[in-house]
Amino acid sequence: MQVKNLLEGFLTALYPFDAKCFACGIEAPLNAACLCEACSIKIRRAGELTAPDGLCGLYAAFYYDEPLHRAVHSFKYLNARYLARYFAATFSLPELWEFDVIVPVPLHPKRLRRRGYNQSALLAALLSKQLGIPVEGPLLRRRLETKPQAGLSSAKRRENMLFAFCASNAVRGRSILLIDDVVTTASTLSACAMALNEKGAAKVYAACFCTAPLIH
Ligand SMILES: [Zn+2]
Repeated sequence: MQVKNLLEGFLTALYPFDAKCFACGIEAPLNAACLCEACSIKIRRAGELTAPDGLCGLYAAFYYDEPLHRAVHSFKYLNARYLARYFAATFSLPELWEFDVIVPVPLHPKRLRRRGYNQSALLAALLSKQLGIPVEGPLLRRRLETKPQAGLSSAKRRENMLFAFCASNAVRGRSILLIDDVVTTASTLSACAMALNEKGAAKVYAACFCTAPLIH
C-alpha cells in the first residue's frame, strides 16, 4: 500500500492535475469532466459507434470538435502527458463489452524514440487502473513506420495501414480492448483488429478519446 501511495505521489508530481479546463486551458468553474462551460457546450459526447471491419465494438468519448484540437495536439506532439488523466476520466465504456486485456495502438519504435512516449499507452495505463484490467502492450507491435495519416484520403490511409501491425500468438482466445487517442477513418483500428484476429483473438473492441464526425 505504501509503495502504491509513493508511486501515486511520484506520478502526481510528474503529471500535475491542475484546475484548468483541459480543452481551452483557462481557469474557470469546471464540470466533472474538467471542462469549462463554454467548452462543454461546444464539445459533443460520442458513445458507442458503428464498428468498422474486424471490430466487435467501437467507442469514443467525444467527437473531435474544435475545442479539443488544441488539447489533442498538445497531448500527441507537445509532451502534454498530464492530459491523459483528463482524457481517460471521460471514458464510459458500453456495459456489455467483455474483454480481459487492454492493448494500446502501438507506435513504430523509431517514432516512439523520437516522441519519447506513446500517447495511447498513457491512456491505456490509466484505463487499466480504472477498470482493473491489465495492459499488455507487447501483444501488438507496429512493424512498418507508416507516414503521418493527416491529409490523406481514406483509401490511401487504408493502403498505408495494411500489414502495418503484427500480433503475438499469445492473443489466441483472448478478448482485447484496443486504445487509441483519435479515430479519423478507423483504418488504423481496422488494421490492428485484422492482425489480432489473424492470430486468433476471440473479440476485439476499440475505445478512443475522440473521433472524427464521419464515423457514426
Ligand atoms: Zn474550456
